[in-house]
Amino acid sequence: MAEVKVLIEGYAKERENGWVASSTTCLITSEGKKIITDPGCNRERLLGALIKEKLTTNDIDYVFLSHCHPDHILLAGIFEKAKFITFDTNLMYDKDSLTEFGEQVLGRDIKIIETPGHVLEHLSLLVITPKGKIAIAGDVIWWIDGEKQNFDINQKDHSQAKGMNMKKLITSRKRLLEIADYIIPGHGRMFKVNK
Ligand SMILES: [Zn+2]
Repeated sequence: MAEVKVLIEGYAKERENGWVASSTTCLITSEGKKIITDPGCNRERLLGALIKEKLTTNDIDYVFLSHCHPDHILLAGIFEKAKFITFDTNLMYDKDSLTEFGEQVLGRDIKIIETPGHVLEHLSLLVITPKGKIAIAGDVIWWIDGEKQNFDINQKDHSQAKGMNMKKLITSRKRLLEIADYIIPGHGRMFKVNK
């Protein structure tokens, strides 16, 4: 089975003319491989979290990117030896070699799922762990700092990003709720799904 550790809990604070925000970053260990999800845009925190795990950027085999927003992907390039699983028409980048990947490219215990809505090209992960099935949702589900984390599948997407589609977003949310025991949001705390 795989293991998931939240290295950085994503945050999002609204400012008068923008945001202070960086995504949730997880470390997954599976079949001897190390995978970073959504490295975010806070370099100091990311490097600090890696040091705590006694890892260097070169120890990471894969970087998973849920979608194109810079608060999720800006630091991807610091992992020089990694392959990149991307939203970009489901292509894996190995330097300049771009190949289509299958949903289990990261191993038997990690499934890559298309979860459009927040933006059209959006991926999430479902990881089978000893604790249960954990969905790393990206921005299918996220909260502003200080907002109460009562999950409602119809809740507003605060970003109102170009290409946001509420109907698709609700379908993606339903799907994650059905298959996961725990959900890790793009910004906010991990929560247990009430079945
Ligand atoms: Zn986003």
